[in-house]
Amino acid sequence: LFIRVAVPVPQLGLLTYRVPEGLPRPAVGARVVVPLGPRIVTGIVIGDETASELSDGAVKPIRDVLDEEAFVPADVIALAAWTAEYYAAGVGETVTAVLPPKTRGSRVDAHKTLRVAAITAAGLGALDAKRGTTPFSEGGAKKGSYPFSLTAKQLAVLELLAGTPAGLPTPVLAARGFAADTIARLARQALVSLRQDRVNRDPFTPQTFEAPPADLDRRLTAEQTSALERLSSLAGTREFRVALLHGVTGSGKTEIYLRLAAAVRSGGRTALMLVPEIALTPAVASLFRQTFGERVAVQHSGLSDGERHDQWQRIRHGDIDVVVGTRSAVFAPLNRIGLLIVDEEHDASYKQEESPRYNGRDVAIVRAQHAGALVVLGSATPSMESYYNAVSGKYERIVLERRVLDRPLAAVTIVDMREEYAAAGPDVIVSRALTAALERRLERGEQSLVLLNRRGFATAVFCRQCAGTLECPNCSVSLVVHGEGSAPRARCHYCNYSVRVPTKCPLCAGPYLEQTGFGTERVEAEVKRICPGARVARLDRDAVRRKGSLDALLSRFRDGAIDVLVGTQMIAKGHDFPRVTLVGVISADVGLGLADFRASERTFQLLTQVAGRAGRGEQSGEAIVQTLYPTHYSVQLACRQDYPAFYEREVHFRRTMRYPPFVSMVNVVVRARTFAGAMDDAADLVQRLGQAEAEGGFRVLGPAPAPLGKLRGEYRAQLLVKGTSRKRMREALMSALAERPDLARRTVVDVDPISVL
Ligand code: ADP
Ligand code: ZN
Repeated sequence: LFIRVAVPVPQLGLLTYRVPEGLPRPAVGARVVVPLGPRIVTGIVIGDETASELSDGAVKPIRDVLDEEAFVPADVIALAAWTAEYYAAGVGETVTAVLPPKTRGSRVDAHKTLRVAAITAAGLGALDAKRGTTPFSEGGAKKGSYPFSLTAKQLAVLELLAGTPAGLPTPVLAARGFAADTIARLARQALVSLRQDRVNRDPFTPQTFEAPPADLDRRLTAEQTSALERLSSLAGTREFRVALLHGVTGSGKTEIYLRLAAAVRSGGRTALMLVPEIALTPAVASLFRQTFGERVAVQHSGLSDGERHDQWQRIRHGDIDVVVGTRSAVFAPLNRIGLLIVDEEHDASYKQEESPRYNGRDVAIVRAQHAGALVVLGSATPSMESYYNAVSGKYERIVLERRVLDRPLAAVTIVDMREEYAAAGPDVIVSRALTAALERRLERGEQSLVLLNRRGFATAVFCRQCAGTLECPNCSVSLVVHGEGSAPRARCHYCNYSVRVPTKCPLCAGPYLEQTGFGTERVEAEVKRICPGARVARLDRDAVRRKGSLDALLSRFRDGAIDVLVGTQMIAKGHDFPRVTLVGVISADVGLGLADFRASERTFQLLTQVAGRAGRGEQSGEAIVQTLYPTHYSVQLACRQDYPAFYEREVHFRRTMRYPPFVSMVNVVVRARTFAGAMDDAADLVQRLGQAEAEGGFRVLGPAPAPLGKLRGEYRAQLLVKGTSRKRMREALMSALAERPDLARRTVVDVDPISVL
């Protein structure tokens, strides 16, 4: 018997193994332990190998079968296989990427139980005796009435367990420095009891940010009601359908998702909701939890491995009706899916920027197609692709034009920064209008958000003597200064290289170094300077590196302990902070200069989304947008929140320039040790594609140096393939690369790229 196995190795297809005598025949989706070169790895069985010319001697045997039944359900395997093919990735890496962490390498198990230690009555007695006599002494308990002597360690364990009557898993105790034999000795003395438990590590920890209670009895607006009715009837067909829920910011889309999920659940099916950011998962998950209780699971990379693993197991065992998660949750092993929701469907974070380079939204659509389910793509600013599909009738468009309770959209003012510079000099960061508006909010006790989509304190270190800038030695970018104060460091945002900011120019040794450009850290300092009494905080990737700090920051803001929150696009997404009445945009132009065909779309989305954070409560909102291009259509139309007008402008550009959604694109990046090497190899690929190009109905642009010409020490050259058939483009590329295996390993193929930088 031969089987085909997916193994966790990049770019590798399926491997064939033999099932030796004495091992059970593994089911499709079961984990098997297999030899791979010198290593032993865990793979997933994809199917039987039917080729007849195989002989036993030539094929390596598997070592072990870990599961009797499928560990990964068959439909998830099929989805992963589809993903691998469509995105030109290895089946092995894709299938294994859908597994929860911890199941990839070792023999863990589905039904594994944990050892839990709990204090006994005797233990409590011993503790009391100890406390009563010598409360703070260490060492022997001779003075107490308890006959055994207890060490400080043992006492500490008892203290800890006394505080958690249900007991603690032994790994938790071990993590706190209490060795297994300490516990074992206490158990022998009957001071603690040990039991086997199936313990689910619950990511809904008490400190997890709580959303305000959902109110399922509250009356929906007329628009919400008709949207919900339409969506429910689409879900009721039990057929594959795609609906674009196009609702302005604050139109109450979340409420619709909740009720739709409830409707699907009462019809005996399950729901999967994707959200773009980890930041949004706790809020949404806790709303769902209030509605669906224990039968909700969350899946995202911010969970610990253990938490993720347990949640995955609960889903797999059918204990879950609703899953909320980020991108990779699209592969959650949920049965009987009737509804997939992709909130903020336009968001770039649905795209995985490493292999397999899938877009979670698009995989969700395919999963719905396989399952005969409804997909709801929700957004205030739909992607060009989705809106185009809605306009052309492929998707059903459902519109929410108004905010709930007829709250007005924020009034937006554009500030022309050229005038500010003329009036107050070139170093202005916060304009007069924005300063005044911030002060008004502070007087009234209202909150403000201030956006700048760029991290750090200064964006470059420039030498006035030799005109050099401090560059990353590994990447072709300038270093960004972080950490104002005594020891600022210059850091690379791509490879994390960092140095102390020098006092002399490393190139010419001159003392004339100057920091130019500014990021969120500088804006935070500036806001503190102009509003001395204000409580100012910052939300960006640097500020929330520590687990839990994001939740903590968001709940402090929600509780009103912060007046002004400065941040990157992380503050723009989805959050619902009713007390925010002002949104300031420090520069609308951050993304506009980029040589990416989505630059205008991104800018429009970001500005519309962030303006949508203002005025969601009782007080109406205001947004102030600073820009050097006050007449740019992205800026103008975002300020008017006029999506249809933006779409018309942008679709014209896309059509004329032959960009998506009118063609499909594949971005190919070749990496090499030298610049010339990268360009030569890219040119070689272009040449190999030449033949197919004529017949395949696609065009190859390039080779050209990639916009990020050097990254982590490697040079990069790029080609763009544009055409109407992804399949033909992919096949042509794959066969060109098959002729050059050495080059294939250094080539990144990105199908439907979200960014071509
Ligand atoms: P969106 O996701 O469309 O931007 P939300 O779903 O966050 O909007 O809703 C915006 C706010 O309006 C939330 O505070 C929500 O609780 C509230 N809301 C939603 N529906 C209603 C309703 N029918 N009546 C009153 N408030 C509502
Ligand atoms: Zn670097």
